[in-house]
Amino acid sequence: MEDEKNKTTEQEDGYESICYICRRPESKAGKMMHLPSNISICADCMQKTFDTFNNGTMPNMNGIPSMDFMNFSPLMFGGMSDVPQSQKLKKKQPKEKKQQEEVPEGVFDIRSLKAPHIIKAELDEYVIGQEHAKKVMSVAVYNHYKRVYDTDRDSIELEKSNMLMLGPTGSGKTYMVKTLAKLLNVPLAITDATSLTEAGYIGDDVESVLSKLLAAADNDVERAEKGIVFIDEIDKIAKKRNTNSRDVSGESVQQGLLKLLEGAEVEVPVGATSKNAMVPMTTIDTTNILFICGGAFPDLENIVKRRLNKRSGIGFAGELKDKYDADKALLNKATLEDLREYGMIPEFLGRLPVLFALEPLSREMLVQVLKEPKNAILKQYKKLLLMDEVELSFDEDALDAIAEKALEKDTGARALRAIMEELMLDIMYEIPKDDAIGRVTITKDYISGKGVPRIDMRTSGSQVPLLAHTE
Ligand code: ADP
Repeated sequence: MEDEKNKTTEQEDGYESICYICRRPESKAGKMMHLPSNISICADCMQKTFDTFNNGTMPNMNGIPSMDFMNFSPLMFGGMSDVPQSQKLKKKQPKEKKQQEEVPEGVFDIRSLKAPHIIKAELDEYVIGQEHAKKVMSVAVYNHYKRVYDTDRDSIELEKSNMLMLGPTGSGKTYMVKTLAKLLNVPLAITDATSLTEAGYIGDDVESVLSKLLAAADNDVERAEKGIVFIDEIDKIAKKRNTNSRDVSGESVQQGLLKLLEGAEVEVPVGATSKNAMVPMTTIDTTNILFICGGAFPDLENIVKRRLNKRSGIGFAGELKDKYDADKALLNKATLEDLREYGMIPEFLGRLPVLFALEPLSREMLVQVLKEPKNAILKQYKKLLLMDEVELSFDEDALDAIAEKALEKDTGARALRAIMEELMLDIMYEIPKDDAIGRVTITKDYISGKGVPRIDMRTSGSQVPLLAHTE
């Protein structure tokens, strides 16, 4: 009965069982026996268990419990509550069926694909500024998914549109990728290049990014194979200069990433980021995975500046020297040559054909970030206070002052959240104490620590200075 029930649920949810002992999925190991506590055993392992009994390798028969017995012990004793739940892997669909579904009658299906201007318009709702970056990204993503749907790879093969994003901290690199993945409804894995090392050294090897993607896709290999991997802090794996030791976290990681970026079949552990005997494995094809690398590349601006200055030639050298100093868009002028000088290897750069930069956020842009995006920080606080039936408003010069404070921290829009948390703490604490409060207005003086927010009472409409903490 239990068996039947298990079978039907599996057929319904499209996931396949994994043998508790040999960790092979049902598609490889054949029919499974299902035991309580979600444990499944394949026929081979079941047979081995019986053989173990028959060969007399049970414990106490020859003094030492055999390895086999150690493995099978959970099957023989009641202590199954201690046994970890067996993992399940989403079944891969047979190839013919897959093609029928995704590519109707041999024509690639771009109908369900959003056109670049639509992707860009949707990004606009969330991301302030970065017009160039949003445009480049929308087109690259559009082309990437066209390529995914392209069945005729024999004639003209479309190249992958992997991207390399340059941009200062807090300019929205991660945010843009997250928003994009949400809009496209594809799984996204975000990883930090600093945690990666060459296989065999302490740290995660490059394939761990695919395990993360698989987890983000609910262990559905097919979905993962169309997902996005974002590798942040990619500048940290630049080739180390003047080093005599092996560069296991720099150049070697770039080398290791090459085959993933290009497209390869990679054995990936399911439900873990490192391989070991107890973790089931599956194969992921990275051909259709979109890789986006991002980094702040500090000092790259100096390399660009040096090159531009050199090119401007000799002559009025004094004038030329600081010509580019005030140029805020220097990162936009970075070329592959500059990146090579920075320490990125040519093969790596060659696999990231879409190169673009994000601009640093200005004070005006920071104010916009505070109030305009769909889930803007101000909107969130307003909503929170509205639940207490209190209206929250901000004077325009107060917003400027917040942006100014954020600029000082030099971490782009990242500083905004922390500043707002600090500002709002007392307000969120004090307001619910008094039911009579109808409106709170944040003033510039409050931001600079010289005054208090304006409080309007619900009934009288009178203004009462409040919040003792600033006194
Ligand atoms: P980084 O460039 O360092 O990856 P993030 O994307 O992590 O920066 O940005 C931090 C936060 O700042 C985001 O979660 C987002 O809320 C906000 N933010 C940054 N840039 C923008 C932007 N251009 N428009 C709207 N919000 C932004």
